[in-house]
Amino acid sequence: MAAAKTVAFHTLGCKLNFSETSSISRLLENEGFEKRAFDEQADVYVINTCSVTDNADKECRHLVRRIQRKSPESLVVITGCYAQLKPKEIAAIPGVDLVLGAAEKFNIVQHVKELSKGDSAKICSCDIDEINGFNPSFSVNDRTRTFLKVQDGCSYNCSFCTIPMARGKSRSDTVANVVKTAEALAATGVKEIILTGVNLGDFGKGAAGSADQENFSDLVKALEKVTGIERYRISSIEPNLLTDEIIEVVANSSTFMPHFHIPLQSGSNKILGLMRRRYKKELYAERVNLIKTRMPHCAIGADVIVGFPGETAEDFKETFSFLQELDVSYLHVFTYSERDNTKALEIKPVVPINTRLERNKTLRNLSYMKMQYFTQQNVGQTRKVLFEAYSKNAMMEGYTDNYIRISTPHRADWVNNIVNWTI
Ligand code: SF4
Repeated sequence: MAAAKTVAFHTLGCKLNFSETSSISRLLENEGFEKRAFDEQADVYVINTCSVTDNADKECRHLVRRIQRKSPESLVVITGCYAQLKPKEIAAIPGVDLVLGAAEKFNIVQHVKELSKGDSAKICSCDIDEINGFNPSFSVNDRTRTFLKVQDGCSYNCSFCTIPMARGKSRSDTVANVVKTAEALAATGVKEIILTGVNLGDFGKGAAGSADQENFSDLVKALEKVTGIERYRISSIEPNLLTDEIIEVVANSSTFMPHFHIPLQSGSNKILGLMRRRYKKELYAERVNLIKTRMPHCAIGADVIVGFPGETAEDFKETFSFLQELDVSYLHVFTYSERDNTKALEIKPVVPINTRLERNKTLRNLSYMKMQYFTQQNVGQTRKVLFEAYSKNAMMEGYTDNYIRISTPHRADWVNNIVNWTI
């Protein structure tokens, strides 16, 4: 191997990408690489890309240019969802040495060992349909909260989404493996695990992604028994996969936090149909009502996309009224943007960009009011807060069990500890 001994990473996109970057970093560190911050000098730079981010291409170019200015002799490796979707475009960016697709990102050690600075980039990528196998990943930042990937890929076909093309069909770890990892994390002092995946509720397909072997509810029940982990959160779960059983287990659990994040995307059944979502708004409302009946203090977040093609002013009004009535605590609002090779491109009429942005603003205001209202409902209650190591301007932060963010002057004895806090 060339004298490549230091490596730096940059991650774009979601928590899943962050957990994978962490695992890729550990693979290289186990081979003797020393990790550096991205703005420091390194022999190898790895950029883990995202396909959901707007301007993924522009962002990638910008980062590679930065590396080239600082360190023209360093090796540049690009991986992640965008690398799987557009390998040729990425390989054409001056300065890129290696493009690793979805199947190859966990073989990075081998690829980097064989790599030398050349004129043109090498592409190691295969057809997404050929991807099998599951690579467990978890992030370890300050040891307080860890994102643990238990599922990857998606076998749904929502008309706006490129993730199935970037990550392949739904696959997952086994319950036994996840339990083992959770036990190992507990032994290192981790207090909270956030279960992460692309379509988490579809857990149980095994590494081959074929038949249902186990289900998400089996996983939740098994993790509950792991000693040492004091908190779990479910990062996001599709409403049609959030079963009564899962809600019941969480309601009776002392370790699964009263907090759900459930993608809605639209409050109009017409738009949900065009999006090829697998539920109607009535099912969503029914799930929220069941959760709030069982756990009145539960936080519920919802993803919503505004400006999807075909969304008229009336449809948007319907979404707004639906959300206004619904007992959710906060919204994550996304402005629809066109993605190559998706079915949504065929749907007309498209919504003008300024209308999309206006709708986004309207829902963000609604989200702010919902969050205020939810926090108000909790005033006077004493809830448990897990404080994190990160501190800024002498302040520290943590979340209550039901996901209210608390900020207070830094106290070293509270880091990675659960404290009773009266809101
Ligand atoms: S459920 Fe739909 S939006 Fe989510 S990853 Fe799968 S295809 Fe994409």
